[in-house]
Amino acid sequence: MDVVDISGLYSTEHVSEHTLMSSEIERVVLWRKTKYQEVAIVVFNDFGLSLILDGYTQSSVYDEYIYHESLVHPVMIGVENPERVLIIGGGEGATLREALKHSTVREAVMVDIDGELVEIAKKYLVEMHQGAFEDPRAKVVIADGAEYIRKAPDKSFDVVILDLTDPYSSEIARNLYSEQFYKEVYRVLSEKGAMVTQAGSSFFFEKDYNWVLENVRKVFPKVLEYNVWIPTFGYACNFIIGAKNSFKADLNAKKVDEILKARKLKDKLKFYSGKTHIAILNMPIYRVKK
Ligand code: SAM
Repeated sequence: MDVVDISGLYSTEHVSEHTLMSSEIERVVLWRKTKYQEVAIVVFNDFGLSLILDGYTQSSVYDEYIYHESLVHPVMIGVENPERVLIIGGGEGATLREALKHSTVREAVMVDIDGELVEIAKKYLVEMHQGAFEDPRAKVVIADGAEYIRKAPDKSFDVVILDLTDPYSSEIARNLYSEQFYKEVYRVLSEKGAMVTQAGSSFFFEKDYNWVLENVRKVFPKVLEYNVWIPTFGYACNFIIGAKNSFKADLNAKKVDEILKARKLKDKLKFYSGKTHIAILNMPIYRVKK
């Protein structure tokens, strides 16, 4: 096979310890170190405007809707009338954007440790947040998510969405995948509450994934796993829902579409629907079959 002449500028990142993904950069918009992480905003030929943190692509405008709709809507749909949502992480504001689409939401608090990153996102990633930060129901708090949740009152949120850097990438997020942290999440959730976390890759980082899954299982009575292929990541991203008993885990496609219509989301989605809900929750989890 001819060696590809890589003459352009490429961003290469570890999909796993032994596998790399390399994508050609059309141009670099910004590259700077904040107090917490190295932030790059680039335009990839294949993925468009993208955010890279500590060398890991977080989201790209061409496919971020797949990730953010998959992260937010399955958990929101399973909770009766979710009014108060807590998002931890989610710096570029796309998770906030998706949560605010539910007409039941009265307040969405987004907690991110990196205030400089949030300001960069507000300015350079308008296509991702789409003005979500300006929504009167949105509240942005710059703090360590672990600190914030420790101080949050019992039963103060209906949904908690953990949109953090991977459990095996930056150190600043690692303890927000622990059993201790999930016990705090359980405490701040209302009786009808549920949480979801992005959980990296069960195929390429099976040990880390199992650690996160076990921690959720130790705390929550209902646990759902699903994974969705994200072109920019080069793998199927895993999501884990941890829920209290009243969570509706077995909605059919028709019921999901009815809820989406009732909450005025019907025409605001590009990927998620009743059929997608059934499809992604029934896909097998990608694991290495040793
Ligand atoms: N939406 C992204 C995606 O598409 O993959 C997910 C990543 S988002 C950019 C990750 C965010 O988690 C970053 O903004 C980072 O600052 C934040 N973060 C990491 N550790 C944190 C912590 N301990 N507390 C709060 N935010 C944290």
